[in-house]
Amino acid sequence: MLDADFCRRWMQAAAGLIDQEVDRLTELDSAIGDADHGANMQRGFTAVTEALAQQEAGSPGEVLVLAGRELISKVGGASGPLYGTLLRRTGKELGDAPEVTLAQLSAALRAGVAAVAQLGGARAGDKTMLDALEPAVAALDDTAASFDAARAAAEQGTLETVPMQARKGRASYLGERSIGHEDPGAASSALLMAALAQAVAS
Ligand code: ADP
Ligand code: MG
Repeated sequence: MLDADFCRRWMQAAAGLIDQEVDRLTELDSAIGDADHGANMQRGFTAVTEALAQQEAGSPGEVLVLAGRELISKVGGASGPLYGTLLRRTGKELGDAPEVTLAQLSAALRAGVAAVAQLGGARAGDKTMLDALEPAVAALDDTAASFDAARAAAEQGTLETVPMQARKGRASYLGERSIGHEDPGAASSALLMAALAQAVAS
């Protein structure tokens, strides 16, 4: 069973991986965007870990709703509301149960990713974070091993954004010139899934 501390460990691991990869995320966004994705993600997840440190344990759902709210309020740019919606919707799906199963978390994450698609109007193939998130949540089931499969699927999905032409977000303004670069939001989604796999394994 997964408790609130599990979700805290996930958010802390995400913040740690983003700190390590902040320059790479910025470089990716400088090629096809405005070079702020590393800073956006770092600001957001620093705010998330600070907010969680000040809040009592609660439930897994509460932790994710709080994290999502922080991202929405602290991150300007497309990625703040999108990642905020992912975590908030996932948390709402989990409700206020003190512990949830891997299967419940998998189902909640699928609802969270669907909410991202609805908010941003993007789908797989548009060269966005959804190209990492959709294959990742499709790989999830009720086993711990599926969370590592989700990490691998997100990484593979990120690589597959390279030959795509962006159809959503700032990169779409570049038209064909967006081809040949990895999408920064897909790359950060792969980090979020890697952090989740770490938290499940620990
Ligand atoms: P901004 O584009 O406002 O500077 P960021 O640089 O933080 O915001 O995030 C850019 C990332 O957001 C993109 O690489 C892409 O993955 C994601 N993104 C942008 N628009 C959308 C959308 N409509 N749906 C899903 N993801 C999107
Ligand atoms: Mg940007």
